[in-house]
Amino acid sequence: MSGHVYVVGLGPGDECHRTPAADDALKRARHLVGYGPYLARAPARDDQVVHASDNREELDRAHHALRLAAGGESVAVVSSGDAGVFAMAATLFEALEAQGGEECGITIVPGVTAMIAAAARIGAPLGHDFCAISLSDNLKPWETVLQRVRAAAEADFVMAFYNPISKARPWQLGKVLDLLREVRAPDTPVVFATAVSRPDERIAVVPLAEAEPGMADMRTVVIAGSSATRSVPRAGEGVWVYTPRRAGAASA
Ligand code: SAH
Repeated sequence: MSGHVYVVGLGPGDECHRTPAADDALKRARHLVGYGPYLARAPARDDQVVHASDNREELDRAHHALRLAAGGESVAVVSSGDAGVFAMAATLFEALEAQGGEECGITIVPGVTAMIAAAARIGAPLGHDFCAISLSDNLKPWETVLQRVRAAAEADFVMAFYNPISKARPWQLGKVLDLLREVRAPDTPVVFATAVSRPDERIAVVPLAEAEPGMADMRTVVIAGSSATRSVPRAGEGVWVYTPRRAGAASA
């Protein structure tokens, strides 16, 4: 009998952003597999087996889930946000390909990814063309990161930066902000959204000229505006940030 692997995006934090489909997949699984802090957000029943692992053991975790399912078990592999955005879904297919094919059912359950949750908090910065770039050079060369940021900046995309900084990668975000300053106006809004929908959520908007790496940590998604992104005053204090839906000649 073959089992099933659900790869489940839990959303950015608060369970109000977790979809009913994610809850349903978590209920169906007998095994819950993932990074410890994410599993803590999906409390297990007594009859469920929890397999918590370190964040760096993703490929092992994917192989483990596929082996359990090939043996007839139902397994939920959890990710924060959306499982397909810099997370476990692609890792699962990498493991599947290495194992030479499918011996179980697979369902990928979407979740609210960090940039979408952050954008909603601050307005609509992703209202026109945008891209998402991970600044981590763990899985790609640093030159590739810079090349992609430069190309996206020249193409005038709004950019959402995931994995902007960590203890092991303290300087990369500074280089990216310097690169943006070569291309974008100094007053371009930059959003630092940290721990969105968690109890310690922090959201700051600064002009590109004042953006600094110290404004981000591992739980920050940074959204850098395009040339069209602007801010409007918000009732009380602060601003809304949005990118108009018309660009270039179309806005005339
Ligand atoms: N699969 C996740 C992304 C994993 S990469 C998703 O779809 O959201 C990890 C990066 O995601 C972090 O470094 C940070 O940039 C971002 N991130 C994850 N959760 C976040 C949150 N609650 N608030 C802000 N950024 C978050």
